[in-house]
Amino acid sequence: MGTVEHRPRKYTDICWLAGLLEGEGWFSVAGKDTKYPQLIIGLHMTDKDIIERAATLLDVVNVHEEMPSSKSLGKKVSYRFTLGGRRAAAWMMTLYGLLGERRQEAIRHALLVWRNLALNKPSRYSFACLRGHEFTPESTRWKTNSTRQCLICQKNRAARRVWIDGRRVFRTEVAA
Ligand SMILES: [Zn+2]
Repeated sequence: MGTVEHRPRKYTDICWLAGLLEGEGWFSVAGKDTKYPQLIIGLHMTDKDIIERAATLLDVVNVHEEMPSSKSLGKKVSYRFTLGGRRAAAWMMTLYGLLGERRQEAIRHALLVWRNLALNKPSRYSFACLRGHEFTPESTRWKTNSTRQCLICQKNRAARRVWIDGRRVFRTEVAA
């Protein structure tokens, strides 16, 4: 993670970005059911000039336009981007100290989930599954090799599994 380099930014730009993401952005993990879970920073808003400034600062190339009615931002055209991977991780840590408690909590949670998934843990001593569900007698199944399976995750996976053209696919995961 330490090898990712930002091109230099002014401190005022970083503060501006933190303020914007505090209000309009989100911090999470995508691809939790895949081999390559990714930390994600996302932004969705109706002000094109502002999102473009943020995209430039974050070196995000693609800003997607969404037609009205597609989501929850009312009747205006809105704009959206996501930044993933190591650059998102680096930015989360850069912005962390400038964000409020709720966003810091979201980042800590995302980093924890992502790290656990990346390491393919948890160990038999941890109190929660990879996705943060607490291990309780009702939600846990012990397997013969003395690892545990989270029944909440299993149920969620089953609920998202659909068959399309004879192929088994998973619907895109909704935020946990
Ligand atoms: Zn779980």
